[in-house]
Order: sequence, then C-alpha cells, then structure tokens
Amino acid sequence: MSNEQKVLIVDDSPSILKMLASCIKGLCNINTAHSGQACLQIAAQFPQPDLILLDVSMPEMDGYEVCKALKSDPVTASIPVIFVTGLQGEKDEEKGLMIGAVDYITKPFRPAIVAARVSTHLTIKLQQDKLNQLAFYDQLTGLYNRHYLMDVAKQKMQAAQQQQHPLWVLMVDVDHFKSINDNHGHSVGDLVLQQVGEALAIDDETAVTARSGGEEFVILFDQCDDEEAFNKAILLLDAIESLDPHKINVTISIGMAKISEQDKDFDSLLKRADIALYKAKENGRNRLELAF
Ligand code: GH3
Ligand code: MG
Ligand code: MG
Repeated sequence: MSNEQKVLIVDDSPSILKMLASCIKGLCNINTAHSGQACLQIAAQFPQPDLILLDVSMPEMDGYEVCKALKSDPVTASIPVIFVTGLQGEKDEEKGLMIGAVDYITKPFRPAIVAARVSTHLTIKLQQDKLNQLAFYDQLTGLYNRHYLMDVAKQKMQAAQQQQHPLWVLMVDVDHFKSINDNHGHSVGDLVLQQVGEALAIDDETAVTARSGGEEFVILFDQCDDEEAFNKAILLLDAIESLDPHKINVTISIGMAKISEQDKDFDSLLKRADIALYKAKENGRNRLELAF
C-alpha cells in the first residue's frame, strides 16, 4: 500500500478522531476535520483525500448531507466515503450505501476491522487511479490523450455555443518527424515527442493540450480573443524551434480554427483546423494557418 495515499477522518468528537486515527496509522497519511463543512472544504482542495471516514451524527450538517454534497460535486464525487456510525439499524446502513458510500462501519468498532476495510478501499482507489491514468493520459508525454480530449472538447463546444464565447482548436503536427526517426532512431524520436509535448503544455486555465496520436497534438483555447489566441500560437512555434534535443532542429506546423456558426459539432471545427494544418504544411511548414 502506498504511504502517499491520504485519508480524511471526519468526526465532531476529538476522542473518536483519535481512536480512528490510531486504527489506521501506518496505512496512509491522515488528515482530520471536526465538522461537515470543514470536510467539504478539505475534500475540494488538492491534493484531495483518497478516502473519507465520515461520522453520521454531527451537529449542523450530518454525515448523510455531507456525503450527498460530496457526491453531487464533480470535483469530489469520485472520493470514496465510508460511514462510521453508532446507528446500527439496517435502514441506516441502507441509506448510507444508497447515497453513495462504499462501506459502513458501526461503533463500537474493532480496530483490526477498521484497518482492514480502509486498506481494502485504499487498494481499490489506487487501482481506480491507475485505470484513470491509462484511460485519460498519453503514456509517453503525460499529456491528455485523444479520448479525454474529445470528451472535454464536446463539453467546451457546448458551453461556447450556449454562452457565445470563442473556442479555438489548434491542430499541431511535428514537421518531417519521420526523418527524425529515420536519422536518429525511434527512441530519440520518442524523446523529441516528450520535449515537444512539454513545450506545448500551456499552463493556464484557458488551454487544454492533448497528444491526439503519433506526432500530432490538439490544443484548445477557451474564451480567448483573436489576438490572444494568435499570440499564444506564435509563442508555441517559437518554443518548439528553440528546443534542441540532441542538436536536432525541430519545428511544428499549426492549423487554427475558431468556432463559428458553420460548426454544428466539434468534429466540424476539428476538420477545419486539419485543413488549415494541411495548408501550413503545403506553404512550407514551421508556420501557422488560420481556417476559413
Ligand atoms: P510532415 O512534415 O508532413 O508531417 O511529415 P512527417 O514525417 O512528420 O509525417 P509522417 O506522417 O510521414 O510521419 C510521421 C511519423 O511519426 C511516422 C511514425 O512512424 C512516427 N511516429 C508515430 N508515433 C510515434 C511514436 O510514438 N514514437 C516515434 N518515435 N515515432 C512515432
Ligand atoms: Mg502526422
Ligand atoms: Mg508530421
């Protein structure tokens, strides 16, 4: 079991917090909260807990309410919750499980059982995290993969259409990448892709960068005006040109398209960016072209 996993214990009683913490000491990092409100706050902050042990009976906001709030917020919905309670009725247990808890521990608890259950759910969470990593991320560059990009793009497209704000898509393709592989070998090619990926990963809240396949990347600029989008794209061309892996000259071509009336769905926007990319290649590479 990884020591890096974090468990948040929530209980209004300091003595129970202490007891629970001593049961799972050594299995994980432990954080505590004394109220439902504090739990919601901590759970939404990064790094998030991997598991929450949640007392049912608390003043102001009880555990059921807290669990419902956690499950209805996409930021916290995937954190598993185990209820810890003095209530022993089957109905209470049923209620807890129905609102999304993964398990239910009743007081007075046996330390070994608490430890075993926490350990099981931490293992499941670790496996879930690994699956998500494989499902949503590209293993070579660490960027998002095509699958994740298409999901996000559809959501952003809908929001852009409803709220009438701009959305840009950039299709990026490494120039003459086949000859980099041919001249320097596949593993150097991989290293180049990693460095290109790193340089394309713009770290701001308006941009999403994904490796869409091979030596192709797709970038979304959300809520960017024309000048901003254009400047950011030019910076990317410059950033790639200034890379110097193994003294290899690397350049990219970019096709850019902004959402317009003609785009009924994301595929149509992507297609226009792809046509612009083709034009950038035809017009000499290491450049960008805007889609009509
Ligand atoms: P252009 O400027 O027209 O884009 O030419 P290009 O050589 O970049 O394009 P082409 O599509 O002919 O070649 C892309 C090459 O990328 C072919 C493929 O073997 C290589 N490639 C695809 N995925 C990977 C990868 O993960 N690692 C490495 N090293 N090469 C890859
Ligand atoms: Mg290509
Ligand atoms: Mg290429």
